[in-house]
Amino acid sequence: RAKLEGRGAVRFFQQKLHDELVRQHDLSARLEEALDNGEFSLHYQPQVSAASGRIENLEALIRWEPAEGPTISPGEFIPLAERSGLIHRLGEWVIEEACRQQVEWRAKGFHEHRIDINVSGRQLVRPDALKNFEDSLQRHGLGPRDIGIELTENVLIEADETVLEDLRRLYHRGIRIAIDDFGTGYSSLSYLKHFPVTALKIDRSFIHDAPTQPKDRAIMEGAIFIGHRLGLEVVAEGVENAEQLSLLLEMHCDLVQGFFFYRPMPAKEIERLLGGFVPGNEEPSS
Ligand code: C2E
Ligand code: MG
Ligand code: MG
Ligand code: MG
Repeated sequence: RAKLEGRGAVRFFQQKLHDELVRQHDLSARLEEALDNGEFSLHYQPQVSAASGRIENLEALIRWEPAEGPTISPGEFIPLAERSGLIHRLGEWVIEEACRQQVEWRAKGFHEHRIDINVSGRQLVRPDALKNFEDSLQRHGLGPRDIGIELTENVLIEADETVLEDLRRLYHRGIRIAIDDFGTGYSSLSYLKHFPVTALKIDRSFIHDAPTQPKDRAIMEGAIFIGHRLGLEVVAEGVENAEQLSLLLEMHCDLVQGFFFYRPMPAKEIERLLGGFVPGNEEPSS
């Protein structure tokens, strides 16, 4: 009997695996057309100053809203785009769209915030990726106070000399370079010494458990301390409640980002925020 159940389980998992592969194949095949059809958009999630609550940065997060069916998350389609190579076109689209949006916002009088875009390791395999980024900024008349980038630790570790040179050039031009998901990569602290970065974003797993787990709290505190000692800006991602925020305030974290403050939102909603609209005043916060 146990054997039969075992075989049933195997068949069940094989079916699941099969369904998943079919879905991936299907999404992969639709990605390029989706780009041509304008099915992608950028949502923006504010990063606020822990001390003042002011919106300092907006992280651009890509969304795929197919003509039919529900929104597909980047966690699902970015890896597919990386595998198919479409990530290069997609990455260029993200840069262009972020630049266009920032120019529009500046023209409307919103001068305070910067936009940070995510750049994945696969994108930097193209030696001209960061140069294209700089070209886009220039073409739009934008500078370091307008757009920054987020890279994960692994990207830095795997970066070759060309990429590092480009990063150093961006760094010396004052462009913000943040390490995303800090603390979760396969890296040693010594890379903080070598790589041109301006900010650390502490991974949300540490933030999540900090109120209840002394070890997570210790790592969070250590990351803030080391970041500050190295002259870096420290951001906490995934802040979801007041307990987490109070710890971060106590530890003098610079910027906080998470559902406790704002979810990623379409540009139109961001605009209302930048215009001084306070969400809690109109509708009960959700
Ligand atoms: P990430 O850069 O670490 O982005 C943070 C993710 O955490 C976002 O998910 C965001 O919606 C989510 N998040 C924000 N606050 C909270 C919170 O309080 N609690 C929880 N549980 N989650 C929160 P999203 O938008 O699904 O993006 C997932 C990942 O996809 C990003 O992780 C990033 O690695 C990648 N990604 C997103 N947009 C782009 C893009 O334009 N280009 C590239 N290359 N990658 C992107
Ligand atoms: Mg990010
Ligand atoms: Mg992150
Ligand atoms: Mg992440």
